[in-house]
Amino acid sequence: KKLLTRIPGAQYGGRHSCTMLPGGGIGPELMTYVRDIFQYAGCPIDFEVIDIDPTSAGNDDLDYAIMSIKRNGVALKGNIETKSEDIDATSRNVALRNELDLFVNVIHTRSFEGVPSRHKDIDIVLIRQNTDGEYAMLEHESVRGIVESMKVVTEENASRVARYAFDYARRNNRKRVTTVHKANIMKLSDGLFLEVANKLSKEYPEIEHNNMIIDNTCMQLVSNPKQFDVMNMTNLYGTIVSNVICGLIGGAGLLSGRNYGDHYAIFEPGTRNTGTAIAGKNIANPIAMLNASVDMLNHLGHREHAKVISQAIHQTLVVDRIHTPDIGGNHSSTDIIENILRILSKKRVH
Ligand code: ADP
Ligand code: MG
Repeated sequence: KKLLTRIPGAQYGGRHSCTMLPGGGIGPELMTYVRDIFQYAGCPIDFEVIDIDPTSAGNDDLDYAIMSIKRNGVALKGNIETKSEDIDATSRNVALRNELDLFVNVIHTRSFEGVPSRHKDIDIVLIRQNTDGEYAMLEHESVRGIVESMKVVTEENASRVARYAFDYARRNNRKRVTTVHKANIMKLSDGLFLEVANKLSKEYPEIEHNNMIIDNTCMQLVSNPKQFDVMNMTNLYGTIVSNVICGLIGGAGLLSGRNYGDHYAIFEPGTRNTGTAIAGKNIANPIAMLNASVDMLNHLGHREHAKVISQAIHQTLVVDRIHTPDIGGNHSSTDIIENILRILSKKRVH
């Protein structure tokens, strides 16, 4: 059975064309930093930049973005704002993941040395349902004053996510997978999700499989996070748990997230924030988006470029301690970028 996302082949001259979706808020400024760094490091990447206007009536720019990702196989993405007041507006972010069948989201949450945080030495791989669950966007008002929202769990998607989690554990020498659920209350939907994981776990005898109820999981995470290794869960629990873990490690500005299907991959900041309130102030932490860009380079096989950029990020954060306000520093976004460029100027990859 095929498990990994198809890797797009390089074009003439070894270059890859990648879709870039800056999104709203801090997205565009973060993308400028990525492009500066890629250019400086000589990364063989050509970006196809597509702006999606969340207020436009039609779906033309969304369709154009989907076509571009289908052509390129990969995208780097900022968050596209969805106004919660407008009930007719569906999330372009969710639509994109559904259209491209990016069924799994992976966030490797690791503590950063030297970044103030609630817990040290966290190393948890959060694997989450990305297409159905509570994000099915099937809501309706059946009778005035009565609103229903459907949570969809399918055996097929639950098993694709669980299989991804167990295979990830096997490939990366991880010891345990914890399936997170609320099957005591949502007996059918979460019951199926859990049942599928239990069944699949038999094919992975060397990996321990346990399960935990979502509310207890949140408590265990803030009090004793080291018990977790690889986690497998439905969509809404995944976004909540990933925000809890990112908060324990140092907030929204550090970690990257990866979205995979059989054919395409999208790389983005792990907690998917728009950051509207901090846009244009030169204070956004660029590290999460930079880590996402490194993930994309690794996915495409540009390992040397990925390594050099990731070492420069590490040195900036851990050795030089250039920190933005969100992690207790007083440096600007561009201070971080300039420091990274300075490091790169000493070891350019050719
Ligand atoms: P959403 O897009 O869900 O509305 P927000 O933009 O409100 O999310 O982000 C949640 C919080 O995380 C805000 O306090 C925001 O300032 C902060 N945040 C998100 N991304 C970053 C970043 N890159 N650097 C610093 N703070 C960030
Ligand atoms: Mg959010």
